[in-house]
Amino acid sequence: MLLTFDEAIEVIQSAIKPHNETEIVPLSSCLRRALARDVVADRPLPPFNRATMDGFAVVASDISQGVTLPIIGTVSAGEASGVSGREGSCVSIATGAPVPDGYDAVVKHESTRFTESEVEFLVNDIDVGTSIHSQGADAQEGDVLIEANTELQPHHIGIAAAVGVTGVCVKKNTRLCLISSGDELVDVSESPMNHQIRNSNGPMLQSFFESHDCQVTTQTVRDDALHTKEVLEQACATHDVVVTIGGISAGKKDFIIPALDSLSATHIVQGVAIQPGKPLYVGHCNDTIVLGLPGNPVSALVCATLFGKAILRLRNGQSALPRFEEAELLHDVTPNPNREQFRPCCRKRRGITIPAWQGSGDLIHTSTTTGLVRIPKQEELIAGSTVLYLPWS
Ligand code: AMP
Ligand code: MG
Repeated sequence: MLLTFDEAIEVIQSAIKPHNETEIVPLSSCLRRALARDVVADRPLPPFNRATMDGFAVVASDISQGVTLPIIGTVSAGEASGVSGREGSCVSIATGAPVPDGYDAVVKHESTRFTESEVEFLVNDIDVGTSIHSQGADAQEGDVLIEANTELQPHHIGIAAAVGVTGVCVKKNTRLCLISSGDELVDVSESPMNHQIRNSNGPMLQSFFESHDCQVTTQTVRDDALHTKEVLEQACATHDVVVTIGGISAGKKDFIIPALDSLSATHIVQGVAIQPGKPLYVGHCNDTIVLGLPGNPVSALVCATLFGKAILRLRNGQSALPRFEEAELLHDVTPNPNREQFRPCCRKRRGITIPAWQGSGDLIHTSTTTGLVRIPKQEELIAGSTVLYLPWS
């Protein structure tokens, strides 16, 4: 019995352990990289009692409607507060400036009438802490602000910058060898004869894996048992992950899996009950993970999106589960009764449409698509049903 998609992801999840090779990269180059060490606060945040309004720092208990107080100083953002606050006085203060010790609230300009020397307050009682972002309210020194393994997004870079991180310790990028197989393939730069096709999967998947922070080397193999074994052996000895394209079905010239077997690779998944992508292979050859993608271009793309990404995330200590989103299907769909489908689809504002296809060799129909939709087997889906959608990126 073939594994279902969920079972395959579960098996892969328990088989692939995070790696622990790290490097330091400049803060400006760490977007989307996997953080290797927690980022911690180097001081309380905010570091001082920060005014959140332009107005007057006061002692809260002084304030009621019509009270007038003398202005004893001014503090701007970027200035040390200098003055000491005391009852019966106030200080003119700007957003972002430190509230002088002795004051415990800020009254915004709009709630006052003021001259150069004094302020009349136009509010009733105010609470202690009004318009003050208190020292340490967001984090204390030593608090973990970003956990190791997080995939760094722009807001994480802002947080790291706020605590003085200039070099970020991230997981090393994956060294990935992408091997295209097939005697029918010619390079994109060559003129194919009538019976030949261009290697379209190679550039497609090279860019896919590079966009997921892999250092990709590319190889091609002929449909020859010995050549396949030699190339795989060399690739596994020098890479963290080897991805093969084609040659994993039961055809006479499908040599990838026999070659891996002869290299004593252990398989984790061999065949999944999905369409497209049924022949998928995932295994280990010593410490190298091998992902065998079917050669048909839509299958290769779908399996790279579902399983390739999962493997890379697991190596970085992250969850393997693709991040599906709920969406509305805009037309009826007849499912495949035997296998769950992952069909390229278009998501527009109103919902999901699925273009017709001529099978998994038809890459052309993906041209207008934005991602994949999950079509459970057997369940008749009608327009208006909620489905699970996964964007291409
Ligand atoms: P295979 O999985 O090797 O049996 O290949 C299945 C189909 O995918 C065949 O029609 C191949 O010609 C095609 N195919 C395999 N590899 C590639 C590739 N790198 N680029 C484009 N098509 C491919
Ligand atoms: Mg082939």
